[in-house]
Amino acid sequence: MSTPQAQPATPHFANYINGEWVTSSKTFESRNPANTDEVIGVFSKATAADMETAAKAAEAALPGWASMPAPARGNILYKAADILEKKFDQLGAEMTREEGKTLPEAKGEVRRAINIFRYFAGEGSRLDGVMVPSERERVHVFAIRKPIGVVGLVTPWNFPIAIPAWKMAPALICGNTIIVKPASVAPLSAWRLVEALHEAGAPKGVVNFVAGSGGELGAALVNAKPVKAISFTGSNEIGHWIHQEASKRRLRIQLEMGGKNPTIVLADADLKTAVENVVNAAFFSTGQKCTATSRAIVEDAIYDRFVAALVERTKSLKVGDGMKPGIEIGPCVDEGQMNTVLKYIEIGRKESGEPKCGGKRLTGEGYDKGYFVEPTVFADVKPEHTIAREEIFGPVLAVTRAKDFEDAMRIANDTPFGLSSSIQTSSLSKMFDYVYRAEAGLLTINLPSAGVEYQLPFGGTKDSSFGPKEQGPAALDFYSDFKTVYVKY
Ligand code: NAP
Repeated sequence: MSTPQAQPATPHFANYINGEWVTSSKTFESRNPANTDEVIGVFSKATAADMETAAKAAEAALPGWASMPAPARGNILYKAADILEKKFDQLGAEMTREEGKTLPEAKGEVRRAINIFRYFAGEGSRLDGVMVPSERERVHVFAIRKPIGVVGLVTPWNFPIAIPAWKMAPALICGNTIIVKPASVAPLSAWRLVEALHEAGAPKGVVNFVAGSGGELGAALVNAKPVKAISFTGSNEIGHWIHQEASKRRLRIQLEMGGKNPTIVLADADLKTAVENVVNAAFFSTGQKCTATSRAIVEDAIYDRFVAALVERTKSLKVGDGMKPGIEIGPCVDEGQMNTVLKYIEIGRKESGEPKCGGKRLTGEGYDKGYFVEPTVFADVKPEHTIAREEIFGPVLAVTRAKDFEDAMRIANDTPFGLSSSIQTSSLSKMFDYVYRAEAGLLTINLPSAGVEYQLPFGGTKDSSFGPKEQGPAALDFYSDFKTVYVKY
C-alpha cells in the first residue's frame, strides 16, 4: 500500500504496522496551540491489540533486518534523510503548527533530525567491536555488536522530530526493529520520519508507528512479549512507571526525564552575554526544553545589575504565533501545560512575591485562540521555594541570590534532578572547578544551558535519567549487545 496523500482540509494520518498504513475507527486530533481553531491532523487511535500486532510484525522482521549488512541499513537511513531534506520547509512549518515553537526553531530541529539520520547512517560502515590480544598462544579474541531485538521508543512532544530521530536512527543501524509511540499532542513530526523510512524502502515490519493513548499503549508495549528494550523520554512520573513495569520483565531500559536546570552567573561574567544566554535558555521554545534554565543563581556582587538587565531584555521578547516573522516565543503546547505554568506562577506569587515581569496569560487579538503566557521572572527566590524545586516546563525563571561561587555551587547542586547545568564566568579556574563538581549530565560554559549537538553523548544524572546515554557513539551501547568470540587456530 502506498503512503496516503494528506488532504489539505483535515489530513488523516494512519498508523504504520508491518509496512501497511492502518486506519482505526477511533481517531484523535492534533491542534495548533497558537490557534486552536486549526486542526493540524486527525490521527488513527491505536489500541492495545494494534500494539501487539506491531510487536509481532517487528519480531518477524528482525532476522532479515539484523542480518542485512549494516552499511546497507545505513543506505536506507541516508535515503530517508534525503527525502526529509526535500520536505525541509514543509516539515518546519508543520512542527511550528503542531508544537508551537517558532519557525526558525522548528527548522533548526528538522535540520538536526536530518543530521542525526545521516550521522547514524554513517555508523553503518563504522560499527565498532572490540579486538584485543589474547593472553593465550594461537588464540584470536574479539567481540562484535549484535542488536537487542524489538525496541519500543516512547517520545515526548517538546522535540517532536529530533527525539524520535535520535532514538530511531541508532536503533535501526544496530539492526533492531522498532515500534514508535509518539506524544499525542504532537505526533505529526514523528509520523513524517516513518513516512520517509517507508519511502526509503525499509522492509516491512522493521519500522512501526503506533499513536494513541500513552496509558493504554504504554502498558501494551511494556507487556508485549517480543519487546526487549524500551527507550523513553518524558516526565519522571511516567518514566518511573515504565521502570517499575519493565523491570519485572527485565527489559533493557533507557529513561530521559525532567530537570530543574541551573545557570550560575558569577560576578566576573560578561553581563550582556550572561543575560542573553539566560534569556535564551529560560524562554526560547517557551521554556519547554528539558535542558531549559529554570533557575538563575547569581553572585551577590552582580545580582542587582543582572536582574535589571534580565528583566529589561525579557520584557522585550516578542510572544506570538511562531509562524510570524520576528516572533521569539510561541505558546505553551496545550491547555494543560499552560494551566500548569499558571498554577506555578500563582505558587511563586505566594512564596516569592510579585514577579519582576510577566506573570499572566496573554489575551487579545492574536492571543485569545492560543495558549500564550508572558515570559515571567521571579527574583529573590529562596532555594527552598516550590518554583526553585519543581519542574514547571514553561516560560518561568526563578532568580536566586548566592553569596559567592561556593554558595552558588551548593544551591545549583541542591536538587534531585541532574539534566543540564550552566555557568557564566571568565575565570578558567572556576570553570574547571564547576566542571568537576556540577551534578548534571550536560554542562555548558558561557553558553545557554540548552542546545545540544547530536555527535556527543546526551543525558542526565540523578533523578533525571536512568540507563546509558543517548546520541553520539554512546547511543550504540543501549541499542546493541556484545558477542565475544575466542578462536584457537
Ligand atoms: P509524558 O507525559 O511523560 O509523555 C511522554 C510520552 O509517554 C508520551 O508519548 C506519552 O503518551 C507517553 N505515555 C504516557 N503515559 C504512558 C504510560 N503509562 N506508559 C508509557 N508511555 C506513556 O511527557 P511529556 O509531557 O510528553 O514531555 C514533557 C516531559 O519530558 C518533561 O518532564 C521534560 O523534562 C521531559 N523531557 C526530557 C528530556 C530528556 O532528554 N531528559 C527531553 C525532552 C523532554 P501520550 O502523549 O499519549 O500521553
